[in-house]
Amino acid sequence: MMVAREAVAKNEVTCNYLSMKKPTALLIQPPVYDFALYDLYLKPFGLLRLGSWLERGGYRIDFVNGLDYRNKETLSVLGTVRRKSNGTGKFHRVRVPFPENIQGRERHFARYGMLEEIFRERITASDPDIILVTSGMTYWYRGVAEAVHTARKLHPGIPVAVGGVYATLMPEHCARVTGADYVVQGEGEPAIRGILQSRHLPVPENAVDDRLLMIESIWKDAGVLRLNDGCPYHCDYCASSVICGTFTAGRNNTAFNMLQEMNARFGTKNFAFYDDALLIDKEHTFIPFLRRVLDWGNDVRFYLPNAVHLQFLDREVSTLMKKAGFQEIRLGFESSSGEFHKKHDDKYSSGDFPSAVEHLKTAGFTSRNITVYILAGLPGQDYREVEESLRYAASFGVKVSLAEYSPVPGTPLWPESVRISPFPLEAEPLYHNNTFFSMEWGGFTLENLKYLKALALSLNRQL
Ligand code: SF4
Repeated sequence: MMVAREAVAKNEVTCNYLSMKKPTALLIQPPVYDFALYDLYLKPFGLLRLGSWLERGGYRIDFVNGLDYRNKETLSVLGTVRRKSNGTGKFHRVRVPFPENIQGRERHFARYGMLEEIFRERITASDPDIILVTSGMTYWYRGVAEAVHTARKLHPGIPVAVGGVYATLMPEHCARVTGADYVVQGEGEPAIRGILQSRHLPVPENAVDDRLLMIESIWKDAGVLRLNDGCPYHCDYCASSVICGTFTAGRNNTAFNMLQEMNARFGTKNFAFYDDALLIDKEHTFIPFLRRVLDWGNDVRFYLPNAVHLQFLDREVSTLMKKAGFQEIRLGFESSSGEFHKKHDDKYSSGDFPSAVEHLKTAGFTSRNITVYILAGLPGQDYREVEESLRYAASFGVKVSLAEYSPVPGTPLWPESVRISPFPLEAEPLYHNNTFFSMEWGGFTLENLKYLKALALSLNRQL
């Protein structure tokens, strides 16, 4: 088992002798076209779950990581990129012309990831029977289209399926723009089973679980873990339920096994949680997981790229998180306004925030490792409400961070966003990017947003 997996890790699409014997699945993480991109534990979790499932079902896996910042050829042309010891950092970046048909103020558009010609070479080097392409934000669709077009050109006749967030939220747009044979919405397994069957390819017997394809270049700097699927709340600005469906609790055993395997094989020390609702049902999932980490006793560090629900942060879980090696806590407070929560999410009552901060500080977290997200730029939101929320949160001696609203198809706020935005949100997903500040109005202008950004910086400097 060990030998076979190492062979996959080394092979990441180089030579392909084994494909004579085994069916081959080519998995592609596309490059990203955006104004800016920072790697905050950006890993193709869903694609690598499917990869592990197919590998255990007898497939050879070729994986092309369009965002590989370790790629030698790209490093030799573009140089190194700044990375941090916590596993986050920059990607390689090549400026590209701003799309001609797009209105907007920002002009620093770029392609992030490995060089285009190397991306093409890696895809060419595979001899696949099926090609799976993942997708992220809707406004990253250009990279997905590049990946699909390249794969189809280099491997004509081989089925190409696109899944992931963009494919789930905008399936018609995805089918039209990428030209993929299949667009998979939501959980990929049933659709992939159907595709394999229809193409007379072997179908793995077992179900997909949370085991991930083991690839050193992906997991060495940072692993990702997920205990629960989805979130039981239905905030009107969030796409969690559209993407993940209903909340499903608990796979702390698989997550712990993944952590141990990455640590043993690649020396991985940093782990980020991908959960939308890590603390929900914590007595059965998260707390047992933390206790196993503590019993294990190895030196690992944990991060939260997604915020946690502050009302579930009690003394016990805060203390266990600190002891287990959590380096930072991100809280999804969104607003100090009761009206805001009544209208948009109904998830907090007054008193939740002060008590969460108190528990975290008692457990040993300092001002600098607690960050509170405040939402800015929702349809019709007044900038003064955001200002008050920033000042309120900062008064508890924690860092504040503006979470700028992006309109997301399928969310309850989407129709209103489409109605009031000056940009054609339905026709052009690039306008979902919060760089466009697409909900600007008289009570919340671009100048107001700049002021709030400067205010957040200055409040954080005072810590
Ligand atoms: S914003 Fe947070 S609490 Fe609300 S639905 Fe999304 S993940 Fe759940």
